[in-house]
Amino acid sequence: MYYDYLIIGASAAGVAAATKIRSLDSEGTIGCIDKQDKIPYNTCLLVDVLSEEKTGKEISIKPDLFFEEKNIDLLLDMSIEKIEPQEKKVITSQKKEISYDTLLISTGTKARSIGSISGQGVFNFHELGDVDRIQEYSKNNSVKNILIIGAGLSGVEAADALVKEGCNIFIVERQSKVLPEFLNDKASHFLVDRMKKAGITILSDTTVQKCEKSEEIFSVTCSSGQTLSVEMILITTGSMQNICLAEEIGIKTDSCGVIVNEYLETSKKDIFAAGDVIGLISPALQKKVRNGTWPEAVKQGMIAAQNMVQQESRKYEVATVLTSSRFFDLAFVSGGLLSADDKKDVFIYQDDDSYYCFIKEKDRLLGVVMIGQLRAVGYVRRALMGLIPFDRDTFLQS
Ligand SMILES: Cc1cc2nc3c(=O)[nH]c(=O)nc-3n(C[C@H](O)[C@H](O)[C@H](O)COP(=O)(O)OP(=O)(O)OC[C@H]3O[C@@H](n4cnc5c(N)ncnc54)[C@H](O)[C@@H]3O)c2cc1C
Repeated sequence: MYYDYLIIGASAAGVAAATKIRSLDSEGTIGCIDKQDKIPYNTCLLVDVLSEEKTGKEISIKPDLFFEEKNIDLLLDMSIEKIEPQEKKVITSQKKEISYDTLLISTGTKARSIGSISGQGVFNFHELGDVDRIQEYSKNNSVKNILIIGAGLSGVEAADALVKEGCNIFIVERQSKVLPEFLNDKASHFLVDRMKKAGITILSDTTVQKCEKSEEIFSVTCSSGQTLSVEMILITTGSMQNICLAEEIGIKTDSCGVIVNEYLETSKKDIFAAGDVIGLISPALQKKVRNGTWPEAVKQGMIAAQNMVQQESRKYEVATVLTSSRFFDLAFVSGGLLSADDKKDVFIYQDDDSYYCFIKEKDRLLGVVMIGQLRAVGYVRRALMGLIPFDRDTFLQS
């Protein structure tokens, strides 16, 4: 089998790339491979499937016939084990060979697991298959009490979805706040308050010390001394980038993932990378960070595609590292710095429904947290990218 353009990973970056390639090259053959057996779906909406507000099909990225109509070969349930860059081919776990002219690695991330907490009744919340397994187990075992380990984005989203299903939710978080990557202390208090009102029990500054299972009930001993009895455990302690395929063939990587140049090409010729598998420069933080948002992965997929079709035709310039979501009836965006030194100005606004914090130096916005009712998100995004100055009055009047 041969493709002019081969893509490993059919999610935000991979599907955006395939779509863009087809819009630029109507003839070239495109193969888009994924190890999951699901039609590509929007991971940001997994929570709606968990709360049974949507079906898996309803969160598909593209309509049913899209790939067929665009003449893109979507090869699902197929895992790539190895890339052979000299031969320009990849090897699947079934030992099948697929040759390519240009390759995109958009393999994203996988969920972290905890070695000592595993087995039946323990799940991640990272992909659609996880949601199927959670729902099946939950129904078969009449689950009512659930422990979520990790109060990051997926942990908080899962708590919101499952409490709506009538479950008792306990969250254990090692750090002192929820969404520690995204919220300052005050914003965390604001959210914790809302979560408690929704019935969630949050144990912060706490870790799991021991977990035993007897007759389908987990007995979980926490570092705080409390013991929780639950029928199900979700591990949402973050994700790891799928960089092995790249590393094995000597593609350069660092602690933020696969290294790419401004055209999103890796250190190996004709091999590009995009999405959560790469690192990017945050304009606000002035340092490299991991990519972690859907819109940015889509943007990168499209830019990589353009360069795959026509070499060095489009640069990836300023990244928008603004994470957004919605939970407990609160909208949320966060990006850049979470705390400020003496040289920076901090502007905080809070009422019963919202909390905003902006950190700036002169007129340059360096950090933002907005939770509750959002305003002027487009303006804030552009300011955080350094494209426009940030002015508090302009924001407040918006
Ligand atoms: C529960 C959850 C909620 C989220 N909510 C939000 C949100 O509200 N807003 C937001 O902006 N972002 C959110 N994100 C993050 C967002 O989903 C990611 O930034 C985005 O999916 C990254 O896209 P990607 O294409 O780079 O990688 P991924 O979406 O991780 O996809 C990578 C794909 O590669 C496949 N793959 C990996 N290795 C192989 C291999 N060897 N062979 C074949 N296939 C392979 C995987 O199966 C996967 O489908 C959320 C993520 C999760 C897990």
